[in-house]
This record gives sequence, C-alpha cells and structure tokens, in this order.
Amino acid sequence: MSADISSIKEIGVLGAGQMGAGIAHVAAVAGYEVRLADVSLEHANKGKAGIAKRLGRLVEKGKLSAENSDAALARIHPVIGAAGLSTCDMAIEAATENIDLKKRLFADLDAACKPGCVLASNTSSISITLLAAETKRPEQVIGMHFMNPVPVMKLVEIIRGLATSDATYEATLAMSKRLGKTTITSKDSPGFIVNRILIPLINEACFALQEGLGTAADIDTGVKLGLNHPMGPLELADLIGLDTCLAIADVLQRELGDDKYRPANILRVHVAAGWLGRKTGRGFYDYSKK
Ligand code: NAD
Repeated sequence: MSADISSIKEIGVLGAGQMGAGIAHVAAVAGYEVRLADVSLEHANKGKAGIAKRLGRLVEKGKLSAENSDAALARIHPVIGAAGLSTCDMAIEAATENIDLKKRLFADLDAACKPGCVLASNTSSISITLLAAETKRPEQVIGMHFMNPVPVMKLVEIIRGLATSDATYEATLAMSKRLGKTTITSKDSPGFIVNRILIPLINEACFALQEGLGTAADIDTGVKLGLNHPMGPLELADLIGLDTCLAIADVLQRELGDDKYRPANILRVHVAAGWLGRKTGRGFYDYSKK
C-alpha cells in the first residue's frame, strides 16, 4: 500500500511533551483527528491540558474562535503508547531524543500501526534510515522535523531515509502544507540542516559562558543585538531543553567523528543537575519565579 494525502485523516503522535503537544495542536486545528500517546494516560492528558491552555490564549487574543478551539480540542484523543495508534493513517514519533528508545518505538509503531500508515520521526538528529531499519516498512518511514514552538514556527524539515518512497515523501510534503508549514528537504545526515548549524552555535555559547567571556545575559544580548537573532543561544537552549541539546551534540560528535562538536562540560553538568531549561524551571536562567 502506498501513502496518499487524501487518505490521511487520523494522525497519531507518540510523545506528548512540548513538541508532541505542539504537533497535536496544529494537526487538530487543521482538522485532523489526533491520537496523542505517551507512556501513561496521565502523561497524554497532561499534553492535552497544555494544548487547551494554549488554544485558550489564542481565543483570548482573537486569533481563533471559541467554536474552532472547542472543535480542535474535541479531535484530540489521549491514548497510551504505540498500541493506541493502531487506527491512524500517519504516526509522528516525538518522544525523548534517545537512539535506543526511538529504535524500540519504531519497532512498536511498525507492529501496532496498520499497513500503509506512514511512520514519521520528529527527531532532531538521529538517522531516519537507522529508525526505518527497525521496521518492515522502511519505504514508509520519513523524518518530519518540526520547530519549537510548533504552532508559531513555520518550518518543517523533511528527511528522506535511504528507502523512503516518493509516495511517502509527496504525502508528507502535502501534509506539512495542509498544516500551514513551509518545508525544506535535508539529506539524512546527523542534525540534518537546522541542527547541524544551530547546535554548534549553542555549544559555542556554552563554551563562552564556561570560559567566563561574559554572563549568560551578556552572551545572549551580544548575539541578539550584534547578530540580529530574535533569541540568544542560551535562552534558546533553555527553550529547546538542555537534555535535547546535549543529546544532539553527542550525536553530531559521534556520527560525524569530529571533536569540534564535543559538548561543553557546562551543558553536561546542567543536564546532570536536572536543570533542563524552561521545562524544569531552571536552565541557564531561573524561571521559577516567572
Ligand atoms: P519533552 O521532554 O518535552 O517530551 C518528550 C516526551 O516523550 C515526554 O512526554 C515523555 O514522557 C515522552 N516519552 C518518553 N518515552 C516514551 C515512550 N516510551 N513512549 C511514549 N512517549 C515517551 O521533549 P521534546 O522537546 O518534546 O522533544 C521530543 C522530540 O522532538 C525529540 O526527538 C527532540 O529532539 C525533538 N525536537 C525537539 C525540539 C525542541 O526544541 N525541544 C525541536 C524539534 C524537535
């Protein structure tokens, strides 16, 4: 069976954290039925509660009608694990950035999802070909790398694995367009295009902080006002999640085999402390009082 955009009506999202919830949000607003899965119903419900809050803010600002917000929310169904996605026409994996975990989840998705269901990964850095090899449908596996926050950021980076079929690629492009996104296509190489460039920038900012070139605020203000970036690299790292930044940096160093990608120790230490950024209330900045 081959993928066909007109046959994609129900979307599964595996992982209901900040990215999975964002993907579920835009898919539901675009009119898709959405199954939002995580390790437990409690986790999946928490993801849906966050979406309700963000949709509520859009209604308050007059950017979405209350009727459309209610309808979108009613289309999101929290479920448990890959098994909860058996009726979906496309499944997007957005779980923690960990190779062994994602390999296992792709085998689970392959077993749970119906034939013809496209299996996409929102991975920031891990090889799509490697994940596809865990399935019996590598031609229906593709990278669909959304940006954070998903409802705001226009870009989706599409990555074809070695075996990805033209039909899967075309259906994914069309689906991204229906979500209101602009796409770029990257080769299946560590970090793809966006993180190959972003993570070394963030890592260099970490080295600058570690070496005492300036405070975190100095470094961020320098990049914002000196390079005209909307956010500084350290505040952006806090938004992404320092665990995710470290996981991507580790993949870049290992897979590209070049020590210029080695993660700064300050990044590793923050992750070891559980200071993962906004999601834990502390990273390079303290968000506990905001
Ligand atoms: P997050 O920590 O906010 O969420 C990860 C979610 O995965 C959690 O809800 C966790 O419970 C869930 N999870 C873990 N194991 C699971 C399992 N076995 N089954 C189902 N769910 C499981 O992380 P995030 O920032 O949402 O990142 C998710 C993915 O998106 C990663 O691959 C990351 O690299 C990628 N990504 C992140 C960003 C970003 O800015 N944070 C941007 C683009 C892509």
